[in-house]
Amino acid sequence: MTDSADAPQRTAIVTGAARGIGAATAGRLAADGYAVAVLDLDAAAGADTVAAIEKAGGRALAVGADVSDEAQVTAAVDEVAERLGAPTVLVNNAGVLRDNLLFKMTAADWDTVMGVHLRGAFLMSRAVQKHMVDAGFGRIVNLSSSSALGNRGQANYATAKAGLQGLTKTLAIELGRFGVTVNAVAPGFIATDMTAATAERMGITFEQFRQDCAAQIPVRRVGTPQDVADAVSYLAGAGSGFVSGQVLYVAGGPLN
Ligand code: NAP
Repeated sequence: MTDSADAPQRTAIVTGAARGIGAATAGRLAADGYAVAVLDLDAAAGADTVAAIEKAGGRALAVGADVSDEAQVTAAVDEVAERLGAPTVLVNNAGVLRDNLLFKMTAADWDTVMGVHLRGAFLMSRAVQKHMVDAGFGRIVNLSSSSALGNRGQANYATAKAGLQGLTKTLAIELGRFGVTVNAVAPGFIATDMTAATAERMGITFEQFRQDCAAQIPVRRVGTPQDVADAVSYLAGAGSGFVSGQVLYVAGGPLN
């Protein structure tokens, strides 16, 4: 959020922002006043998110990069700094699932999930931190998950999401002195393409899956991408400067 009418517009990067939680978060941060880099594997995939932001009067740029690729991350962050301004907010949201029970999980399934979630968040945070340190202000928000507490069929994903909590706390310790806070949001069940794919894999309809999950959630509904975007907005804003190294569960009830 800009501090005053004449303050420069701050720039945020949201990874995996072509759809789902990332798209909602990009829209929310644009509404909060940030220029938003909509980063996804392919710049063309981010076009709808950018168009929605521009239609609402915001400023956005689609950027293509695989967050697990060091050279692509460096190039993407350089492009954002040049075209939108130095990024001082980073939301590490890009994610993939390669669910399977341990005995069927391949090493490639393991490596892919670690690469996108952990290596991706590491590379993006490392590339962006210099801009934050120069500005004396920064906000990093990592997307963890309730699966970090353990979830059948997700040895790779649960490990990555728990690892992101360790990264969050460590970067909070390292970067705090530069005005940079680092937090995680850990969503429970959020209705997106990702959970729709899980329903398909389980052989049930998405509607049935949502109803079954909602019955187990204290607020009796599943989450929406907007629920997560609103939580990220708080952690990305100027008003959360004394909150760092925290994991905020956005799950319709207490999880830990
Ligand atoms: P989604 O709908 O599958 O969207 C994920 C986005 O990330 C896609 O646009 C995807 O691009 C992009 N992406 C994948 N690999 C990438 C890479 N290497 N580099 C750049 N972008 C990449 O997922 P979502 O449900 O919105 O989830 C967003 C985040 O929240 C993820 O980190 C997820 O683990 C986490 N989360 C989700 C839930 C939930 O219930 N949905 C719960 C807890 C945590 P492609 O379309 O090209 O693959």
